[in-house]
Amino acid sequence: MSMLIDGRAIAGAVNERTALAAERLRADATAPAVPTLALVVPTDDEGTAWYVRSIRRTGERLGIDCRVDTMVSASREEIARRLAELSADPSVHGVVCQTPLPKGTTLAEVAGSIEPAKDVDGANPTSLGMLAAGVTGAFAPATAAAVLEILRSTGVRLEGRRAVVVGRSTVVGKPAALLMLSEHATVTVCHSRTSDLAAVCREADVLVAAVGWPGLIGASHVRPGAVVIDVGTNPTPDGELVGDVDAAAVDEVAGALTPVPGGVGPVTTAMLLHQTVRAASSLVQAGAVIG
Ligand code: NAP
Repeated sequence: MSMLIDGRAIAGAVNERTALAAERLRADATAPAVPTLALVVPTDDEGTAWYVRSIRRTGERLGIDCRVDTMVSASREEIARRLAELSADPSVHGVVCQTPLPKGTTLAEVAGSIEPAKDVDGANPTSLGMLAAGVTGAFAPATAAAVLEILRSTGVRLEGRRAVVVGRSTVVGKPAALLMLSEHATVTVCHSRTSDLAAVCREADVLVAAVGWPGLIGASHVRPGAVVIDVGTNPTPDGELVGDVDAAAVDEVAGALTPVPGGVGPVTTAMLLHQTVRAASSLVQAGAVIG
């Protein structure tokens, strides 16, 4: 049996640190600031609405103001303009664009309008470039940051070890690979054209699954004792949520495993809010008014 990694407990610890940092900003004697996150929601998708409510609820509990701009049926240009306006608003410290976007619009196209200093979900392609270049202060997408936080807080050493990421999206796979590379892991990224996926995955000391394919990763993909992080969130017809890992099979082989739900998901929300407070601190310290 593998060790079950408790994402809710890790999120709780991150949230405690975030609340303290938010309180310091609010109580600053010379330049008090209310850390503020603006979420642009260009959809009436129920799953997105649920996620936004949960960010807002947690944010307000931690002392972060969350402003939600619902813009159902807005055009690509209107969404980009709103993101630029929020980036220029000195009372806003973090700007996020939720998905899904209007048909034919990619996140990269509109997120280019988010100022990198406020891009707390790492959606602007410039942020990914900064991450790749190792620029201090660059924001990673919250899910990729959550993968690293889980490894860090579980005491998993990355230096000199083999990490394999299955999935190469710009929101999860690529930034998670870059973050593990910056921690000195030897990183391999797999995708839909990878030959003999199971053999490549078995080389991993740390295996990250970010595919969107329920149960793709089975026992034959896992080296005995490996740490397995399951990013996948796949709804089943009966309303459950399952990961990309066949948890029952992998549990017999892995050293540690994140559950779905209760693994990467809650840590992602925690990291988004943590990065908002980090952005607010940097902007306040720089006395910056962006725009
Ligand atoms: P995505 O953009 O659809 O990317 C999926 C990746 O998986 C692609 O790189 C694709 O390869 C690869 N892939 C597809 N089939 C494969 C196969 N048979 N073997 C190996 N690789 C394969 O998805 P995403 O946005 O990264 O999300 C991945 C999963 O994470 C989804 O379940 C999503 O819901 C979940 N997610 C969870 C959170 C959270 O907070 N927990 C946040 C974001 C996403 P190609 O590039 O070759 O097409």
